[in-house]
Order: sequence, then C-alpha cells, then structure tokens
Amino acid sequence: MDNPKTLALIAHDGKKADMVAFAIAHRDVLERYELVATQTTGTLLRDKCGLKVKLMLSGPLGGDAQIAAQVAEGHIEAVFFFIDPLGKHPHDPDIQGLLRICIAHNVPLATNAATASYIISPKAL
Ligand code: PGA
Repeated sequence: MDNPKTLALIAHDGKKADMVAFAIAHRDVLERYELVATQTTGTLLRDKCGLKVKLMLSGPLGGDAQIAAQVAEGHIEAVFFFIDPLGKHPHDPDIQGLLRICIAHNVPLATNAATASYIISPKAL
C-alpha cells in the first residue's frame, strides 16, 4: 500500500461543479491524501480548491483507463467518479472499464456527490 494513500477524482463536464463543491467542502480531508485526477478535473481542483493533484490524461483520451490500471495495481484507496447520466461520452467503454475494475477489486467507488460525502465523512443514514 502506498503511503500516504491515494484517492482518484474524476468528474464528467456536467458534474464538475459538484466535484469542486465537494472538494471545497472536504478540502481538509482531501489534502491528507495523494490525489490523482483526469486532466480537466484535476486542473479545476488545483485552480479552484488549491489542492495538489497528479494529472492523468483527460478522460476521453485515456485518463479513466490510466486510473483503472492504478486501481487494478492496488495503488488507489477510493475512487470519486462523478458521472453525468445525461451526457454522451465517447469514452464510455473506458468508463465501464473503470467501474468494473473498482467492483472487481472491491475499491470504494462514489459515482455521485452524496455517496462521496458518506465515504469521506461517514455518518449514519
Ligand atoms: P476530464 O475527464 O477530467 O479530463 O474532463 C473526465 C472524463 O470525462 O472522464
């Protein structure tokens, strides 16, 4: 296991505002981790939230696949992947692949802001 642990953050365009709001709300927790993100999401997290983020490729260019590989190799503690269910995504095969790899490796996976908040700050329903 890496030390400190690494979290992955990805947000589709329609969910990037949710991701920034989530990161601002939980900045104190997020900054204790290594963070990796797809390019546009990570750039926003750097610029709008002041977080240190390692940038992968943009999702449509292979960033989701890069993060899936890191999950499969055991380098990622949890994935925060804010999916836009109303958007069309040319990289849908990569999206499905990342979801599948998280499930296969039993890695916590939040696909919306509400679940992300529970993972990062658990409280009873
Ligand atoms: P992006 O990629 O952060 O580069 O926009 C996210 C995605 O669409 O998968």
